[in-house]
Amino acid sequence: MTDNQDKIAADPNKVDAIKLSLMLTDLRLPTINRLWQGFAQRADAEGWTAARFLATLVEHELAERDRRRIERHLKQARLLPGKSLSAFDFNAVPMISKAQVNALAAGDAWIDQGANCLIFGPPGPGKSHLASAIGLALVENGYRAFFTRTTDLVQRMQVARRELALESLIARLDRYHLLILDDLAYVQKDQAETSVLFELISARYERRSLLITANQPFGEWGKVFPDETTAVAAVDRLVHHATILEMNVESYRRRTALDRGKRKPGRPASFATGKNTKD
Ligand code: ADP
Ligand code: MG
Repeated sequence: MTDNQDKIAADPNKVDAIKLSLMLTDLRLPTINRLWQGFAQRADAEGWTAARFLATLVEHELAERDRRRIERHLKQARLLPGKSLSAFDFNAVPMISKAQVNALAAGDAWIDQGANCLIFGPPGPGKSHLASAIGLALVENGYRAFFTRTTDLVQRMQVARRELALESLIARLDRYHLLILDDLAYVQKDQAETSVLFELISARYERRSLLITANQPFGEWGKVFPDETTAVAAVDRLVHHATILEMNVESYRRRTALDRGKRKPGRPASFATGKNTKD
């Protein structure tokens, strides 16, 4: 026995800090390991009950775990950097209800039911920004999301199909409550022919959510699926439980450039047209 252990054996209130630290490492409690000595001093000085001391340490461990989990999920989500809801100017898209977007960002009502969100509009009004920002808010709220250009995912799924691994890829994507497919319109005809996208949509139907951005609301979808029947079936599944946001405004970048040119605050009212479309 070392001197230290002798002392501990003599006084049951003395704790072997090194041994405790090793035990906390064994139990994978790094935050408690880091903080317990500081809190122990405070607890002794301020006369905390043992229960309060223990609860405080456990709370810190859990909070740190949550933080790390969200950080990990954010990395995996591959969202667009810097595109948050707070950086999104809702005045630029008057037909989009901020309250509705905030409800989407909170998740509960649609994500838990595997419902979808479709964002339509010409190039530039902020479809990708909004989609990524909703993904960001959801991850921060504890959900998991994955952002991908539609063509990238279609390509990945086609490779998987060739290797007879499409099913397992789709199953792996199940871990994401929300899959964000950006720019459906850019799926090329040769990519469409294998109908992997349709299989993904069918597999997630009423179970796991999709958020799709596209230039064309449905009219052109025949082009991204192998045939008209598949396109209709895909649209049918997508819109069955869906929030549809239409952003029929001119490109945000072009508009802000124009506004700067005019050196006037705001922008011409003529840009703020578009129908008010909610689900
Ligand atoms: P889309 O996907 O519809 O083509 P993007 O989301 O790529 O458009 O937007 C183009 C650029 O303009 C991005 O840098 C985006 O952050 C910015 N942008 C678009 N709309 C807004 C907005 N309402 N508020 C702030 N930035 C915006
Ligand atoms: Mg885009």
